Amino acid sequence: MSDAIRPTPKNLFSFSRLKTLHQCPFRYRLRYLKGMKEAFRSIESYLGTTVHEVLEWIYKSRAESSTPETQEILEFFETRWREDWPEDLAVVRIVEGPDHYFRLGRQMLENFAAGSLKKDRSETIALEARYSIHLSERVSYTGFADRVGRTAQGRLFIVDYKTSKREGDPSEFSEGLQAPLYAACAMKQNGDERALAGYHYLRMGSSRWIDMDEEKARRILDRFLNLAETALDTREFPARPGILCAWCGFNHICTFAQIRDEFSGGREVARKAMELG
Ligand code: SF4
Repeated sequence: MSDAIRPTPKNLFSFSRLKTLHQCPFRYRLRYLKGMKEAFRSIESYLGTTVHEVLEWIYKSRAESSTPETQEILEFFETRWREDWPEDLAVVRIVEGPDHYFRLGRQMLENFAAGSLKKDRSETIALEARYSIHLSERVSYTGFADRVGRTAQGRLFIVDYKTSKREGDPSEFSEGLQAPLYAACAMKQNGDERALAGYHYLRMGSSRWIDMDEEKARRILDRFLNLAETALDTREFPARPGILCAWCGFNHICTFAQIRDEFSGGREVARKAMELG
């Protein structure tokens, strides 16, 4: 099985695992149950990871010595962008070149340095904080929160940085679950009765905060457990084709894939990789 990695342990659930099941059960089966590796990595995902690395570095530097200047931040971003370039990278939207995404990243970080970072008086408790909670005999939760800290007034918060095109909607699967889940874990770990669960949208320079208390934390962990238990009991994994097929690393082998020509960059990378063996 040359294209296989180890299937994810049956009882170990992350937020991304549940999100994949929600978006396309067939993709979930291939990735999490069969352990198959997706054939490409989208440039949007690479941009997100690289910007997150820069943010982590900024806050680490701030805690250890001083906040980097904007120029240093942009130079660090450029170095990471060029150094870590993945071999299987795909620009899905074929009208755009990689430079478009590089400029986007620079713009987001420049705005962040001039806006939120300048005003931010909070203290950092942890960066890329890993949480692991045993929720039942059958389910454990694992996840990483981008930044955990305390406001100047001593209030615990977690924030998740988003590089997406638009702000999320609280009714969406991701928005309703992800940050509150991290906040529930942070509350448990730090012994706080309340916390703020937030998203910071780097393209817009805006933030959205959810006020969490112990009751909400309990409900969000219960909700996650129910979703994970349902996933464990699921026996049918139908394909759910749609716009996201273009970003799915199985789209070159999936007979259900629906991909518009202008979004075919990922499939081309996957096909070429398959031809090369
Ligand atoms: S190509 Fe589309 S339908 Fe097929 S597995 Fe991927 S997301 Fe699902």
